[in-house]
Amino acid sequence: MYWEKDIETSDRRELEKLQVQRLKKTIEYAGRSPFYGNVFKQNGITPESFRSIADIRKLPFTTKQDLRDNFPYGFLTLPKKEIIRLHSSSGTTGNPTVIFHNRHDINSWANLMARSLYCAGIRDTDVFQNICGYGLFTGGLGFQYGIERLGCLSIPAGAGNSQRQIKLMLDYGTTAAHAIPSYLTRLYEVFQAEGLDPKKDTQLKTLVIGAEPHTEEQRRRIEEMFGVKAYNSFGLSEMNGPGVAFECQYQNGLHIWEDCYIVEIIDPETLLPVPDGETGELVMTTLDREAMPLIRYRTRDLTRIIPGPCACGRTHARLDRITGRSDDMFIIKGCNVFPMQIEGVLMKIPEVGSDYLITLETINGNDEMIVEVEVKKDWFNGDISKLDKLTRVITNQIRDEVLTKPIVKLVEPGSLPKSEGKAVRVKDLRQALQISNYQH
Ligand code: AMP
Ligand code: ZN
Repeated sequence: MYWEKDIETSDRRELEKLQVQRLKKTIEYAGRSPFYGNVFKQNGITPESFRSIADIRKLPFTTKQDLRDNFPYGFLTLPKKEIIRLHSSSGTTGNPTVIFHNRHDINSWANLMARSLYCAGIRDTDVFQNICGYGLFTGGLGFQYGIERLGCLSIPAGAGNSQRQIKLMLDYGTTAAHAIPSYLTRLYEVFQAEGLDPKKDTQLKTLVIGAEPHTEEQRRRIEEMFGVKAYNSFGLSEMNGPGVAFECQYQNGLHIWEDCYIVEIIDPETLLPVPDGETGELVMTTLDREAMPLIRYRTRDLTRIIPGPCACGRTHARLDRITGRSDDMFIIKGCNVFPMQIEGVLMKIPEVGSDYLITLETINGNDEMIVEVEVKKDWFNGDISKLDKLTRVITNQIRDEVLTKPIVKLVEPGSLPKSEGKAVRVKDLRQALQISNYQH
């Protein structure tokens, strides 16, 4: 049993009282770090500056750039002796982002993860396979600690090696698993290639999917493929990792744990709060982290708060599915496009397989959007006119959605390049072209 009923269904006023109390403690801790020490001094901030949550607006935002500029220890509030773990982003450009935790922080995170899994219907009777990289990426250890705290039989399977994943599922009767959605659709193809049907041949009941943007259509496909319920899990390393917001059994938005985080949604241009229920950038403040609190952190993730209460009785606000990051958007021929708009179109078309790739390229001086789409194997039986027709259908549907005409190329299942971790949905070769021109 891991249902923290008093906190999860707390009266909103009580919840806000707890938030203010924890915010004061957070400010006290944060002030010990070189970075926030400076910020607070400049803004005349003390823990007493906060009487209500709205007072948080007295503080400036914290950005990823601040984390990079103060890498590695500029946000640390405690001596290194007190720190027991770090997690860090891969950081392909510049300094990586690193987050440090003390024992309290790891404990609090494990608690949030156990609570989140319980919220999605996972119980201590489940056999839980965590199909996720164990290492600096937070999805491995983050889930591991939560699964153990909840009391499931945990299988720390790690990422990749699909045949081995399937064997583990069959050998130990896995009933629940966590993986990124783009990997699950690939895993399904391996099941098929092995002559297995996960619906009949496994005991899977629940999947937890997250760590990368995906559409409702993609979720429904995964549920159909595996014969399970798939719950959305949201988190980011800067806020620990997974366990920030999770779907309950109603699958209608992700409860964001407001006893541990303050949530704001802002207009990324004006930086002002958006009206209730409108989409904007998610900004978050940690309320239960000691070693490295973050205040008003700009996540770049775009979402909204779903208004109204949830049928499950939990009073913590619900985030809508993340539609993408503000830096995911690309502009092609004057149209603003989010990759998830294209995924939404593709996943509704039954002939479409599990993967796609959007490439932006300059062809004969014009910028073009090329969408390569894996379609199911039986479409490659030599009937060119059928393929042409499907190409036209997909082209028109994408054009209707994003208002610019793509070049659609149908490809065989499994032929698109697969990334190790989160799926790469867009390749922008226009930039590469500019850089190489510049260098010559
Ligand atoms: P990382 O800190 O490397 O684990 O990446 C965190 C980022 O992954 C978030 O800021 C989101 O952009 C993305 N992300 C994580 N979970 C989800 C989810 N459930 N849906 C959409 N995007 C997600
Ligand atoms: Zn709910």
